[in-house]
Amino acid sequence: MPNTIRCSRLPLAMACTGSLVPLPYPVDSRGRGAYLGRAVHQFMSGWIPGTWTWETAPWANLVTRHCRELSDEEAFLEDLKAYCGKTIRLWREVSQWFGLTPRCEVSISMLRHGLLLTGTTDVIAYDADSKTVYVGDFKTGFAESDPFDQLKGYGVLGLDMHREAEEVVVVAVQTQQFVTHRKRFGRAELDEWLADTADLILGEAAYHTGPHCTHCPRWHCCEPYHDYATGAIALLMPTAVQNGELHLYDAMKTVEKLVKRARETIDAEIDHNNGRLEIGGERELFYESQVRQKINYRKGLEVLNTLLTDEQIDNCLRVDKEVFQDGVKANAPRGQKTAAAAAAMELLAQADALDETTVEILRCRKIESPIITQIESEVKP
Ligand code: SF4
Repeated sequence: MPNTIRCSRLPLAMACTGSLVPLPYPVDSRGRGAYLGRAVHQFMSGWIPGTWTWETAPWANLVTRHCRELSDEEAFLEDLKAYCGKTIRLWREVSQWFGLTPRCEVSISMLRHGLLLTGTTDVIAYDADSKTVYVGDFKTGFAESDPFDQLKGYGVLGLDMHREAEEVVVVAVQTQQFVTHRKRFGRAELDEWLADTADLILGEAAYHTGPHCTHCPRWHCCEPYHDYATGAIALLMPTAVQNGELHLYDAMKTVEKLVKRARETIDAEIDHNNGRLEIGGERELFYESQVRQKINYRKGLEVLNTLLTDEQIDNCLRVDKEVFQDGVKANAPRGQKTAAAAAAMELLAQADALDETTVEILRCRKIESPIITQIESEVKP
């Protein structure tokens, strides 16, 4: 077992120390929520010290840096602003404890009880009068575990940074639930907690399955989890509504995640194998880039008005490019429908009313054997 742990891994480690066993290779299991969370953290790290205000914040830059899907950028920005707005309101409720000079994104590490504990506090401040450290953590996801498992870790690090401090107040700012929670700990209490945690983490790995497995980076190579997931799939079979160990809802969520994570494993393996992955039967997987076009209605309205009826425009405002082409074809004389659709697309392009995004599609193809290709080319006349 490793002797280093990040505070953010503590909640999962408390549920299953097996989650800390090193991985053969990593699989990126972060979803949109995680990327949104990172963007919120970056925004707050500039907003709290006054580097930027709401109006001057680098919104476009935050979206470019954290949004993974080009086609999602507009919705991502909308969600980001909603999350940041809520987080600011919550922060205002607790900011008085952090005084005038809170520091953001401070990385701290310390070695004690044989364990190297590391972490980056979202916000930290020290009040010399009361000899108290204040540590704040922004939580943007739905809390399925106790946030204080992680915050106690930050508390220990905060006390180590301010050796003269006697107490630490840890504050969880939970955006989704729109609440804040805080707890105060003394130095001795947290040191005892750290000693117990080090015993647990440095001991033999013990595997405990459950819904927390969906957050574990080891899920793809963990046998106990595979048994658990098999049970979940079996439970989804007709008539089995629930049993004592696993409720249908947990089974459904587990299978949903399993499918998503199977895709993430494939992605990681393709990445690890220079863009292609042999899967047996002389087949291989690869990603193909495709350019998708979307009508920009503001720029294309004049073309749409010329070619379509009001009802057809109304339809393609909801369904987009294919419906636009269908509408043009419906209005064109027989024998000229395809050419009319192509010409209409050309008109939209000339009006700069086609926004293009590139998407990566997972494809499977037969592996071309170089020897067979050579023989085929040799026998060709
Ligand atoms: S997948 Fe579940 S059981 Fe397996 S190591 Fe991770 S948390 Fe533990």
